[in-house]
This record gives sequence, C-alpha cells and structure tokens, in this order.
Amino acid sequence: MTEDGMWIVRYSEIALKGGNRSSFEMALVRDLQRHLKSCGAPKVTRTRGRIWIDDDPQQRDAVRLILRLVPGVHNYSLARKCDSDVETLKTVSLACFREAWDGKTPITFRVTTKRSDKRYPMKSQELNMALGGHLIANSPEALLTVKLSKPELSLGVEIQAGFAAVHSIVEPGVGGLPVGTAGEVMCMLSGGIDSPVAAWQMIRRGCRVHHIFFENRTFLGRGAFDKVERLSERLAYLQGASTLTAVPFSDIQVAIRDNCTPKNRVVLYRRFMYRIAEVIMQKHNCLGLVTGENLGQVASQTLENLRAVDTTVDACVHRPLLCMDKNEIIRMAEKIGTFETSIEEAPDCCSVFMPKRVATRARIRDLEHDETKLDVAALEAKAIEMAQCIELS
Ligand code: ATP
Ligand code: MG
Repeated sequence: MTEDGMWIVRYSEIALKGGNRSSFEMALVRDLQRHLKSCGAPKVTRTRGRIWIDDDPQQRDAVRLILRLVPGVHNYSLARKCDSDVETLKTVSLACFREAWDGKTPITFRVTTKRSDKRYPMKSQELNMALGGHLIANSPEALLTVKLSKPELSLGVEIQAGFAAVHSIVEPGVGGLPVGTAGEVMCMLSGGIDSPVAAWQMIRRGCRVHHIFFENRTFLGRGAFDKVERLSERLAYLQGASTLTAVPFSDIQVAIRDNCTPKNRVVLYRRFMYRIAEVIMQKHNCLGLVTGENLGQVASQTLENLRAVDTTVDACVHRPLLCMDKNEIIRMAEKIGTFETSIEEAPDCCSVFMPKRVATRARIRDLEHDETKLDVAALEAKAIEMAQCIELS
C-alpha cells in the first residue's frame, strides 16, 4: 500500500432512511470522529453513500479496530487514492492487484467500478473492461480469468468527483445503525456475561443505552459495583455518553427474605428491580427497558417467570438475548471486549439468600400475595431516593 491511502466506509441500512438519510449519516460521521480522536483525528468527509477517512500508515491497526465496531458501518476498505484518469487507474489497479496476488497462481477476478461522479467520461462497464484487460495483459506469468460471480479476487474502483480510490479487500463492520438514531433505553446491567451483550445489541441497532445496577453492598461489598462500572465504561467507549445508576438493594432483599415465601425470592427481587427501573427510566427519557434474560438459562428465566416480572411494569421490555445460545453470547462478549471483566469473580445480589428450591413457575397470584406482606411503595421510594447516578463518556 502506498502512503496516500484512504479508508472507504460503507453503510447500508442508513441509505434506506429516506428523508432522514442526512441526519443518519451525520450521526455516523460524529461517532467516527469521536473514536478517531485517539488516532490523531484524521479528516472525515462525506460524499453521497460513502464516508472517507484520511489514512495515516502509523494508525492503521488502531483505525481498523475502531471501524470493526462502530454501529452503522456495514463494511470498509483501505484503498489507494489516486487521480481518476484511465492511465493512472491502470497503473494503480495493477499495483493493487499485484499486492493482493502472488503473481504466479492462476486466479479468477473481476473489476467492479462504482461511478459516483456521473460526469466521468467512461461508463462503469467500459472502465471494468479497460482495467481488467490491462491486468490480464500485464500478468503474462499466469492465467487470469474474469469471473463475475464469486471471483477469488475482486478489485473495487470508486470514481468520485476529483479523485478515485482502488481497493482489493473489503472488511466487515458490525452493521446496524448509528448510535442515538433509534432513541434511548435503559439496560439492567448486572456484571455477568449477558447483560453487557444485551446492551451492545441495542447500541448496535442505534440506541443510546443508560444502565441501572442493583447492588447489595451491605452483604457483598463494592466488588460487583466496580465491575459494573468498568463494564459500563467499556460500553460508553463503544457508544459515547451515557449514565449508570446504582440502586441500593439490600433493604429490599432483607425484607423479602424475612417476609416472603423462600422459593419466590428471586422472582420477587426481579419484580422490585423492574418497577424501580421503570421509574429511573423515565428520568432519563428512556423508551424501553433492556435485560440480558435468556429463555431457560436459569430457573428465574422460564416463560412463566418472565411473564411474572413483565406484568409489574407498563414499559416495553426488550430481551435481545432471549433466544441466543450461551456460546454465541460469549463470542459477542469477546468481540466487544466485555468478556474478561464479566468473568471476574464478584457475586451479584441475586445470589444473596438463595433458597434451597427456586420456583420455576411462580404464580402471579402467589407473588402478589407475598408482596402484601411488604410495604412495597416505601421500600421502592427509599431505594429510588438513595440511587446514585454517574455520568459516563
Ligand atoms: P448476566 O445476565 O448479567 O450475564 P446472569 O445471567 O447471571 O448474568 P441473571 O441473574 O440471569 O444474570 O439475570 C438476568 C438479567 O437480569 C441480567 O441479564 C440483567 O439484565 C438483570 N439483572 C440481574 N441482576 C441484576 C442487578 N443486580 N442489577 C441490574 N440488573 C440485574
Ligand atoms: Mg443471564
């Protein structure tokens, strides 16, 4: 790769957004600029359907790490930037081709031109043929065959107003939509493997995700909070500014332990968490509640028990991991960089006062009866009053 490279960033779904297209593109540009500050803040420009980032050879690995995780980026390429006249394009295409191919093994290939500048004197197909012919004529050592469907090597040529870009590799991004374009939600973040991945799934679909954490510092110390704080900071790196609200949960757990049916404890904890989260959510103008619940993963996550917690709130509850397998969730946690923190030992409050037997099919009537033995409103009001919110950026 020559020194004057350039990153081409492609997005797909944003292009479907009709009248909102420009604001979606701007959101993606802003998010890229925020990330790229750590790589010397290269210039980011926008042309129709593409975003371009100036290349600094020293920063390529760092830029690549960013592009593979920015929501809204469908794929990207590191390209050679050059003048768009045919002779220059022939020379650059050959160099780019030679860099990707060993020069000996027979290979199938195609050239794909995308002409954004419609004033360009040649049609895309004419240019494909001219450049393809040049590659064949200048590779006498081996057999090159044009193959339009699934070739072994695909050379991409982009013609823009005033310049062209040639590349041979397209790297996948995470897709999705730019952060913030879908609205704000609140994620119940517990420090395990699942909930940070659930938050990420929503971030990837364009949400800004605030977090709420219920902590039992009295019985478990600060360990779990430290972990959740670090996880929320990692998620803030991925999405930008958000918040983490820590809600003290010890008093509620003690009241449940002392007054309610032991086997219902965990579901009762959940019902309190949901109701409190619904209040905190409104303070942050969140449109939905997100959890890392996963069907059948543990006793508290059966269809019956999920319904028993759902009915406590008047909010849209999103469970992006509901039907995923654990190994898929783990792979995603590794990809977004939360896995190592999640597996640190620090018990969650749900593990406090675990009964010998847990209700896998709690009945709503029984749970409501258990709650009549508590001053639910007072317990919740106190927890909400004591909640602490930290800003993340
Ligand atoms: P995790 O889901 O965090 O990886 P886990 O599967 O062990 O860990 P569960 O006890 O199964 O967690 O809880 C299911 C979901 O309930 C979590 O994904 C999270 O959304 C929410 N939750 C559980 N405990 C807490 C907590 N202390 N604070 C906030 N949310 C919690
Ligand atoms: Mg879980």
